[in-house]
Amino acid sequence: MLPRKTLPLFLVLLAMSAVAQQDYSKVEIKATQVSGNVYMLEGAGGNIGVCVGPDGILIVDDQFAPLADKITAALAQLNPGKLKYVVNTHHHGDHTGGNAAFATRDATIIAHSNVRVNIAKDPKAPAAALPVITFTNGASLFYNGEEITATFYGPAHTNGDSVIRFTKANVIHMGDQMMTDRFPYIDFSNGGDLDGLIANWKTIIASAPADVKLIPGHGRLATLDDLKAALAVVEESAAGIRKGMAEGKTLEQLKAEGLPEKFKSWGSGFINPHRWIETIYNQSHKDVPKV
Ligand SMILES: [Zn+2]
Ligand SMILES: [Zn+2]
Repeated sequence: MLPRKTLPLFLVLLAMSAVAQQDYSKVEIKATQVSGNVYMLEGAGGNIGVCVGPDGILIVDDQFAPLADKITAALAQLNPGKLKYVVNTHHHGDHTGGNAAFATRDATIIAHSNVRVNIAKDPKAPAAALPVITFTNGASLFYNGEEITATFYGPAHTNGDSVIRFTKANVIHMGDQMMTDRFPYIDFSNGGDLDGLIANWKTIIASAPADVKLIPGHGRLATLDDLKAALAVVEESAAGIRKGMAEGKTLEQLKAEGLPEKFKSWGSGFINPHRWIETIYNQSHKDVPKV
């Protein structure tokens, strides 16, 4: 096996310093009604999905620990009930940072089994941050008159991504399998897989109702058409990069050439054109037997 391609160290440090420098006291939590009793909260970190009703509150992802009080205050504006469940879409800290705080306040954390495994690898993670109910393929939760399903379609952004669907409200929380209008991020060091992500997108496009609303991990509220647009951009841009690789171009040459202008806005987020080219390159070089 070739050495596993991981996120370059500078990227990790960049992400860590961004977290370290974030002044959470200035973050405002904004709530948007998505459909029926389902809301989206935006603050810092991943978008939070919220289901409110007579049974109380369930949230999907919980951003960063220092925001727990602000998130609690925002939830109180939506519903007087207790926060009973937190479902994690995956293990990254911008989606699970609040786990320990909410678990301490009696919420039950639910996630794919690899989310628990991945959080447990962090020696600094408190035990309360670990999901206490885990699943491997999927689970259904009946709450507030909703059937809320968590489905693992296979490794994509990480090795433990779930898509959370609110069946009655017709809303899907995509986690970081979707960042609206931006190239996706594949965390190869945690079992991510671009081909898996593309396969998952195709499954969702083929099976979800046409008018479903999508809460992305990051970015604006989206539709199935937005996901179809992302699929087209990912496939077309990847084909161009792979063509260059087939012609024998090195990673440095590919980066120097960059991407066609029409993909510019897709590379304006965390995954800029160079990181996107690296993603395609790393995907093609992972798990290749050493000769
Ligand atoms: Zn994220
Ligand atoms: Zn993530």
